[in-house]
Amino acid sequence: MKVAVYSSHKFERNYLLEANEGKHELTFIDVPLSKETAMMAVNHNAISVFVSDDVSQENLIALKNLGINYVALRSAGYNHVDLETLKSLEMRAARVPAYSPYAVAEHAVALMLALNRKLIRSNSRINELNFSLDGLVGFDMQGKTVGIIGTGKIGSVVAKIMFGFGCRLIAFDDAENKELKDKYEVEYMKCEELCKQADIITLHVPLMESTRYLINKQCISQMKKNVMLINTSRGTLVNTKDVIDALKTGQVGYFGMDVYEEEKHLFFEDHSEDILQDEIIGRLMTFKNVLITGHQAFLTKEALQNIASTTIYNLDCFEKKAPCENEIKTKI
Ligand code: NAD
Repeated sequence: MKVAVYSSHKFERNYLLEANEGKHELTFIDVPLSKETAMMAVNHNAISVFVSDDVSQENLIALKNLGINYVALRSAGYNHVDLETLKSLEMRAARVPAYSPYAVAEHAVALMLALNRKLIRSNSRINELNFSLDGLVGFDMQGKTVGIIGTGKIGSVVAKIMFGFGCRLIAFDDAENKELKDKYEVEYMKCEELCKQADIITLHVPLMESTRYLINKQCISQMKKNVMLINTSRGTLVNTKDVIDALKTGQVGYFGMDVYEEEKHLFFEDHSEDILQDEIIGRLMTFKNVLITGHQAFLTKEALQNIASTTIYNLDCFEKKAPCENEIKTKI
């Protein structure tokens, strides 16, 4: 099959080429799918997209008119795909449901530790030959209460890691995980109760209508003063303006974010020559207790290999017109 691979980055191309073994004709396009770039898929049978591609009604119609019938997502999340339009156009889409929960979970823990022990600040000081320890005091993770919101594939790995640190684990999820309760002493409770009790809160639920702005002014006001908030899931789970207000008062003591509600216009590209237009992320960058990474939690060799092999497998299924267990059929 001829596949137009949108938003293809240097870091993933060799993994895709290796997994493909020459089966499909891959055209790497380094810009995201948009109204302006949909035409670039002309003369292809399928497209492949990542999280910042605009798989909207308008673009799906344009793609269908070009003869595209298949969409292979290189992500697990699919909140950016218009499924109703996809269905009405009789197009098929498949995702990579799990590529490495360890990659994302370990990154969430890396953010916790770096914020707690002020690693970035400490390293910058040392580069300036400032070896003073003032202002670098952290806390023991042991004995702290970690609130895990969403104990699916990623959240449950976070629970297991934090259990090893000797933390008390509390969780909120629609579906309780028996193994976590029995082996890792996870206590399930309502989201409001978790917010009241946790020293560290880490988000691992998907973005959908019911989880949009789950972390907002009202819920932050119930949290412990100086709470640590970690978001490696989706930016819009958090009302960023409310977090900024809480950082200003010290209600939120630490904020680690790998995802951002307006990331589409910034992340995955080099903007180092541009003038920053986004006032919100600009304000976040001014806090010493905020650590931002650009949606890189998934970025390990193992995850990239799995993303590539599942994407090629999904394309194989499409080509053979065979059923595919990774096909997206219903809304999250
Ligand atoms: P998963 O489907 O295995 O787990 C999600 C959990 O959330 C499930 O246990 C589910 O029961 C629970 N849940 C869903 N809706 C809920 C609600 N309204 N209230 C309470 N609980 C609810 O997903 P996963 O693989 O663990 O991934 C979690 C999220 O991580 C993804 O949706 C994606 O947004 C994000 N993610 C981020 C990156 C990154 O690089 N930063 C990479 C992969 C995934």
